[in-house]
Amino acid sequence: MSAGEGYAKPLPTVTHEDREFWAAAREHRFVLPQCRACGNVWFPPYASCPSCLSFNRGWTEASGRGTVWGFTIMRQPYIGSFEPELPYNVVLVELEEGPMVYSNLIGIDNADIACGLAVEAVFEDATAEITLIKFRPV
Ligand SMILES: [Zn+2]
Repeated sequence: MSAGEGYAKPLPTVTHEDREFWAAAREHRFVLPQCRACGNVWFPPYASCPSCLSFNRGWTEASGRGTVWGFTIMRQPYIGSFEPELPYNVVLVELEEGPMVYSNLIGIDNADIACGLAVEAVFEDATAEITLIKFRPV
């Protein structure tokens, strides 16, 4: 399957900064950039450490566990390809390792989503190249 074939929603553009992240996601692994100078872990995967600005970046396996820090329910079709899924949720998950990640929560009614809810990562193969990381209640 070529990029985007059969998948109507927007897909991320892979860059030199996040290529390793998307490659790991394709293998259903959740990795986070980690600074080899100070140990900081961050997301999204910028090339340099937002704490000490070092470019000496490695990768660490994330547990995939976190808690819902905030969320909203989308009820308007701001992006046309999302219209069939209305109303859908957008959550901000605070990972066990500290960084925050925007995603969607699956396997739960929108009315049951609450801040502090324990969640874990799941992998959605959008295309042959792109696997999205979503979350579900633990
Ligand atoms: Zn650092």
